[in-house]
Amino acid sequence: MEIKITKTTTPKVKPTENLGFGKTFTDHMFVAEYTRDKGWHDAKIIPFGNLSMHPAATVFHYGAEIFEGMKAYRRADGKVQLFRPLENVKRMNNSAERLRLPIMPEEDMLEAIKTFVEVEKDWVPSNEGESLYIRPFLFGNDETLGVHSINRSTFVIIASPSGSYYPEGINPVKIMIEKDDVRAVRGGTGFAKCGGNYAAANRAGENAEKKGFTQVLWLDGVERKYIEEVGAMNVMFKINGEIITPALTGSILPGITRKSCIEVLRKEGYTVTERLLSVDELTEAMENGTLEEAWGCGTAAVVSPIGELFYDDKKYTINNMEIGEVTQKLYNILTGIQWGKVEDTFGWTVEI
Ligand SMILES: *Cc1c(COP(=O)(O)O)cnc(C)c1O
Repeated sequence: MEIKITKTTTPKVKPTENLGFGKTFTDHMFVAEYTRDKGWHDAKIIPFGNLSMHPAATVFHYGAEIFEGMKAYRRADGKVQLFRPLENVKRMNNSAERLRLPIMPEEDMLEAIKTFVEVEKDWVPSNEGESLYIRPFLFGNDETLGVHSINRSTFVIIASPSGSYYPEGINPVKIMIEKDDVRAVRGGTGFAKCGGNYAAANRAGENAEKKGFTQVLWLDGVERKYIEEVGAMNVMFKINGEIITPALTGSILPGITRKSCIEVLRKEGYTVTERLLSVDELTEAMENGTLEEAWGCGTAAVVSPIGELFYDDKKYTINNMEIGEVTQKLYNILTGIQWGKVEDTFGWTVEI
């Protein structure tokens, strides 16, 4: 893929503190167009700016949008690296297939991401826990209100320097198990990273926040019986020494952090089981004291310990609202590999 690069003539001042998340953006963006007759074309890196779009564009009306979330990390030696970027590329194409958006060949998407990060290298921050968050996204862009297959799409990559997820140290969170709304159903789009899943989650999320919880824990969309995931993270439990995480049944997002946690844990000698876990089994484990640890996992936080679960008007405290041993170990190993402080024996990192 040929990528035409036009550098900005007015570079911005890079923020150095209070980076937060997704608030400021780098100097450039990647844009590529797709049409059914021409295929992918016009790939370019241009100065960051607004997109000009037709008001009838498919994405505005019928929600054809997918995205990815990944980070570039600065190592102590100053070099920049990505973490398992090919996994994001593969997942983006799986999401595209579900929504009938165009697939981009893996090597082209990987090249687009790497070239873009290379251009924006100086934007990768270097303080403890900071990273450059990379957001590729793809949407249907037909200029018609007719409901039909998508003929025209736009692929964009933007990036945002982000602060440490835990500026004040790792803090266990309070989570509400959602009994009414569901996020996704099998056969639907739960396994695709698409904006529509987030839109469907808004009401429950807002409701939980109002009640003082950080996130909701989703149950399956049919029986509302099985644990699925928590907010925009996958979830893991340590019950009686065994680590259990919901199996990928189609309504759960297949997280790269989830996959990496499983691989690290197995290598460390833990038993990890991917299976259906009912909310009844979970509450029973909380009542009889066999639930030892619970945590969410995703690119943003890496791992996020769960200190309290609320279900059916009952509050359950987990591990004394403290971070558990396995959760801490996972955090140390994964962040160690990502920031290049621990040897990457898995071959997960890709230097830019
Ligand atoms: C992105 C995402 C995750 C986490 O995936 P990672 O690849 O680990 O970042 C989990 N659940 C949902 C709904 C997501 O969108």
